[in-house]
Amino acid sequence: MKVQFWGVRGYVPTPHAAMLRYGGNTCCTAVIGEHGELVVLDTGTGFCMLGDELMQGEFGRGRGTLTLLISHTYWDHILGLPFPGVVHIPGNRLDIYGPDSTRGSLQMVYDGMLSPVYSPVYGLAHIGATHRFTTISTEPFTIGRLLVRALPLSRRQHSPIWAYRLEEEGRVLVYITDVRYGEDGIREEAIAFARNAHVLIHSAPYLRTEQVEDYGHSRIEDAVEVAQAAGVERLLLFHHAPNRTDDELDAIVVRLRAELAAHDSPLQVEAAAEGMELAV
Ligand SMILES: [Zn+2]
Repeated sequence: MKVQFWGVRGYVPTPHAAMLRYGGNTCCTAVIGEHGELVVLDTGTGFCMLGDELMQGEFGRGRGTLTLLISHTYWDHILGLPFPGVVHIPGNRLDIYGPDSTRGSLQMVYDGMLSPVYSPVYGLAHIGATHRFTTISTEPFTIGRLLVRALPLSRRQHSPIWAYRLEEEGRVLVYITDVRYGEDGIREEAIAFARNAHVLIHSAPYLRTEQVEDYGHSRIEDAVEVAQAAGVERLLLFHHAPNRTDDELDAIVVRLRAELAAHDSPLQVEAAAEGMELAV
């Protein structure tokens, strides 16, 4: 598997000069299987640039198939979907997996964001690409030769948040975002889900020492602890705080690496940056 980061910022886009090295687009990560499967984890504003890139290939001719795995439907994880040309070209196909909420289905949420109140598209029925929604469950399924497992990591049914685990020929990628480890048993479930992953992508907006009201999101230290407890090889921090500058992120990573080295931890830690590509 190959991973490409197209958006690594949390909450809101941050097109600010001090943040351009890590990037200002919100959450969007592409996974490309060894046999060409294309999977997109969340469609934040980073999805717009990915969509532009895809226009160069089959998608530009209306012959592309894209699988979207949506963790949850807060704006920073969905906002990019309606904008790229790829979703408006007839013949392209979108397979969209994600959670339904007690307030409405995933399809209703995407349809609502395209309603005339928000968008000139006037609803999902008017995008050109064929689209199919599937409510995610814990039942494993395949996309080409990729095995996908999903797990709910929230107890709140009005805003369910799911994590994804992708496996290909023994290589494992896990994606966990917007988790709140204060909820009952969630930390232990996340550790079990990420067990022995080669790469863990984990949201990491704030440090424990930072006094911010962010509704209980896990901290950067949580991501490191979960990765260590799960025996993860390589941790990619993402969903960076909107006020976090490039230099501050550099300093955080240097400090985390020093702490890990001091404890002889084999865990590799990096901050994901827009445009970064890695092999799992
Ligand atoms: Zn988020």
